[in-house]
Amino acid sequence: MSPDPALMLKARAALTSVYGFSAFRPGQEEILSVILDGDDVLAVMPTGSGKSLLFQLPPIVRAGLTLVVSPLIALMRDQVAQLRELGIEAAALNSSTEPDERRQIARGLKEGTLRLLYIAPERLMRDDVIAYLKGFPIGCLAIDEAHCVSQWGHDFRPEYLRLREVVQALEGVQTVAVTATADAPTRDDIAARLFVRKPKVFVRSFDRPNLFLAMRPKTNATRQLIERLDLHRGESGIIYCASRRRTEELAQELSGLGRRALPYHAGLDHGVRAANQDAFLREDGCVVCATIAFGMGIDKPDVRFVFHADMPSSIEAYYQEIGRAGRDGLPADTLTLYGAGDIELRRRQIVEGGSPDERKRVEMAKLDDLVTLCETARCRRQTLLGMFGEESGPCGHCDVCKGAVRLIDGRVEAQKALSAVLRTSGRFFFGHLANILAGKTTEAIERHGHHELKTFGVGKDRTPAGWRGVLRQLQSAKLIVRDEEDRDRLVVTEEGRKVLRGETPFALREDVIAPGRKRAERRI
Ligand code: ADP
Ligand code: ZN
Repeated sequence: MSPDPALMLKARAALTSVYGFSAFRPGQEEILSVILDGDDVLAVMPTGSGKSLLFQLPPIVRAGLTLVVSPLIALMRDQVAQLRELGIEAAALNSSTEPDERRQIARGLKEGTLRLLYIAPERLMRDDVIAYLKGFPIGCLAIDEAHCVSQWGHDFRPEYLRLREVVQALEGVQTVAVTATADAPTRDDIAARLFVRKPKVFVRSFDRPNLFLAMRPKTNATRQLIERLDLHRGESGIIYCASRRRTEELAQELSGLGRRALPYHAGLDHGVRAANQDAFLREDGCVVCATIAFGMGIDKPDVRFVFHADMPSSIEAYYQEIGRAGRDGLPADTLTLYGAGDIELRRRQIVEGGSPDERKRVEMAKLDDLVTLCETARCRRQTLLGMFGEESGPCGHCDVCKGAVRLIDGRVEAQKALSAVLRTSGRFFFGHLANILAGKTTEAIERHGHHELKTFGVGKDRTPAGWRGVLRQLQSAKLIVRDEEDRDRLVVTEEGRKVLRGETPFALREDVIAPGRKRAERRI
């Protein structure tokens, strides 16, 4: 299709006249012009960057309805309400749509006045719904939270997999997919599974330079949080907790200290939940102690801090959750507490969860990434962005860069661990390697004859958990990596070999999890 410069002019005009915004945000204009040219697009942009505009603006300036697939009814409702307030005819079709509203949608479709129809994926799959919609000119199918298409994403939804059939049934309608979280394999997977043509892929930087990043091993979580909160008097923020009970306990404790603190989790009475969310949106200096149920679709620009009382579930969940701080671009603080108990808990949740094995491996790898980030001796931002495929230097604006992490000479530990990797031909992972190093005989160790290795028991001064910590640090420093082709194999990199030969030093974090303790403490 040939570009139509008039459309882009209209889009720019609508940005001001309809939305009241003075300018596009970074990336919006470039991507919109490609969409208005008729191309398929996959846009990966951070939370708060204004992805909705990418699929909301086209139907305002050109003919044809836009169908928006969105996974959450609450998200649909919010967006529809916002659009209507702007005077744009939009509606949502899902299990909670009333008959009256349904009739209104039918009328809007028939008369061509309806511009955006939000629809739940399982509804859109239905043959009768597709047959019905085919009777109207559809300009675009927009997929919000498109990472749900991919098994590599952190929130796979099987019903998203069939969206490609919908695109085909709608005669290859223009497809626009947006998401905030998709690493390179997830992006490739989305491109392959959703689109019938090759989409133009846009990835905006994931860096949120105004966020201060910090992570700390848990010692006394409540005290650690209170100390940090003291830096934020009169400011609003979120403290994420792993359990419902903990949100209530913490809110109570903070209230006792004179803070305005409210709990939020899916088990609370609907009225209480709505009231607490409302208080957070309206009041200054309000702290919400919440489970992950809190946040999606909450649009508060001046959240000044996001803390994690417990370790999040994955690197993407971490990024999404801290991303709720500082959307106004002003400095905001983050602090994540983690403990050996958190890691064990998450691990167990994955192992005992109902996912198929393949999926469990992905979840485990994402958990490993997060643990690596917690324990890294490198710049947090550099490590985090690296996990999203972005190369960068040390940021100067995280706890590691600011020198909060104490380092010791870890050359000998690194050499022991690296030789364990080499002597097992990279075929064994951290749990097994840690047992070899700590000299712990297990059934697997005996079966493979690994108790006869020279490295067996060379690190008796550390527990297996302590060695796992060392191995993760080696991974985070890229001394060992997973083989590109054979993901089940570890390889020692050139940098790793230099350390092994004693040519380069290696700094190890002093606070590797549970270095001496035999049993991990459990919180929660
Ligand atoms: P995302 O889906 O990427 O998280 P949204 O589309 O919800 O982000 O947009 C985040 C916020 O930014 C919303 O309040 C939206 O109205 C606002 N916004 C989007 N584009 C612009 C813009 N060009 N100028 C100012 N505000 C914008
Ligand atoms: Zn840094």
